[in-house]
Amino acid sequence: MSELSELYQQVILDHNKKPRNFRKLETANHSAEGYNPLCGDQLTVYLHLEDDAVREISFEGSGCAISKAAASMMTQAVKGKSKHEAEQLFTEFHRMVTGELDEENTQNALGNLKIFSGVREFPVRIKCASLAWHTMHAALNNQELVSTE
Ligand code: ZN
Repeated sequence: MSELSELYQQVILDHNKKPRNFRKLETANHSAEGYNPLCGDQLTVYLHLEDDAVREISFEGSGCAISKAAASMMTQAVKGKSKHEAEQLFTEFHRMVTGELDEENTQNALGNLKIFSGVREFPVRIKCASLAWHTMHAALNNQELVSTE
């Protein structure tokens, strides 16, 4: 097993067991629901957007370990970012998991999110990993429902 996939497994397990920012956000002024019919992952992302920045972010829902860990790490990555930065991260993450971005040799802000690069070898899992990102993107843009189909 490579070092990256070992790290990937540890991080997924940890976030699945103790998801960060896993709650309903009472102060939310944006939210969206996401659904991945291929796997059955379902989640709601709550955002408190103020002065074009993500002051608070949280999520609720149920799904596989990858979708939950990805959502947990997405909230950590996006909290405190400007709307523009959050959208940029969404694009980078999406391009990475679909294999369009060479995350090791191109400048990007992905940081520890790079552990999800391995999902591109498993097309079904790409949707699990990117569901929370699509949902966050929808919430930022005032769409209420997103389905990865
Ligand atoms: Zn899933």
